[in-house]
Amino acid sequence: MSTILVTGGGGFLGSHLCERLLNEDNDVICVDNFFSGRKENIRHLIGHPNFEVIRHDIVHPLHIEADQIYNLACPASPVSYQHNPIKTIKTSTLGMVNMLGLAKRCGARILHTSTSEVYGDPEVHPQTEDYWGSVNPIGPRSCYDEGKRVAESLCMNYHLAHNMEVRIVRIFNTYGPRMAPDDGRVVSNFIMQALRGEELTVYGDGKQTRSFCYVSDLIDGFIRMMKQDEQVGPINLGNPVENTMIELAETILEITGSKSKIRFDPLPKDDPKRRCPDISRAKALLKWAPQVDLKTGLTHTTKYYRDTQL
Ligand code: NAD
Ligand code: UDP
Ligand code: UDP
Repeated sequence: MSTILVTGGGGFLGSHLCERLLNEDNDVICVDNFFSGRKENIRHLIGHPNFEVIRHDIVHPLHIEADQIYNLACPASPVSYQHNPIKTIKTSTLGMVNMLGLAKRCGARILHTSTSEVYGDPEVHPQTEDYWGSVNPIGPRSCYDEGKRVAESLCMNYHLAHNMEVRIVRIFNTYGPRMAPDDGRVVSNFIMQALRGEELTVYGDGKQTRSFCYVSDLIDGFIRMMKQDEQVGPINLGNPVENTMIELAETILEITGSKSKIRFDPLPKDDPKRRCPDISRAKALLKWAPQVDLKTGLTHTTKYYRDTQL
């Protein structure tokens, strides 16, 4: 049995990951400061004999023992990471150093959850891992984008200097049950608005695109990345089917049967126009590809919000 540390384990992705690792008979230690995570996400795991929770902020050192580390701690939605930008940068940089220090001391393999945001507003489409990105270093998204870029550099340099087993994945927009209903991301906003009969707030002209991956597919990608012995990465994980925000709004109206109207609001500064992963590397090296289509995933997600939030 391995002891696996999941930082950010009380968040959307982290809670699904903890559940999956427990189902595979691991000892799981969830570390979270509950800034953007929620105790409801992991309440059903409390009392499991192999599950522990530590309230801790990874900006501060942490001395525990672990065989593997999944470092997910970092607010992920633009609203939550821009709430306290300096704290977001500290989490991605000082927090990453601490988790790398812990991994080094324990001889643990460590996964860094990077993001498609390292590509910024991309000039290359779809985005391949060897594209270096187009990020505004002083814009409102930079606390997140640049923090994650520094974290990638830290991982690579710890790997090279100390021969450590680091793994880097670049996650593209992922959605599913347990996304905080109020964290401002587009999928949770549109579903909540549709269920409440409010207008769906499309930002800009709604022609910008994103590629939406269902959570179970992504978690499967994490596990495959950590189980293989060869590749450090970075490897893109995401669903290569691209949708405009208008298409997403219309699909959600159809699934919920809502009579809500679409409203057009101003586009936030530096909002990327297109985003779509090239997943050739994940397919070839991890034998991974998403299985859940958008309508199926949105149907599961809508059921979660209907059952738990309203
Ligand atoms: P989330 O906000 O639901 O989860 C993040 C978790 O980290 C929360 O539980 C939060 O309380 C915790 N956290 C934040 N700062 C912390 C700190 N300093 N110390 C300890 N815990 C802290 O977001 P998520 O969607 O589950 O994202 C998880 C990870 O995946 C993040 O690192 C995010 O950048 C990355 N990611 C997610 C997506 C996506 O589409 N969901 C895309 C790209 C990257
Ligand atoms: N660290 C930690 N837990 C550990 C080991 C290290 O939080 O179990 C922190 C430690 O406080 C340090 C950071 O990780 O600030 C980086 O550790 P490393 O060994 O790389 O650097 P050093 O201690 O030599 O500065
Ligand atoms: N968006 C929108 N309405 C909303 C929330 C977001 O049209 O209520 C748009 C946003 O401008 C962006 C896309 O949806 O173009 C995805 O936004 P999100 O915050 O989910 O993630 P991002 O990929 O921008 O980090």
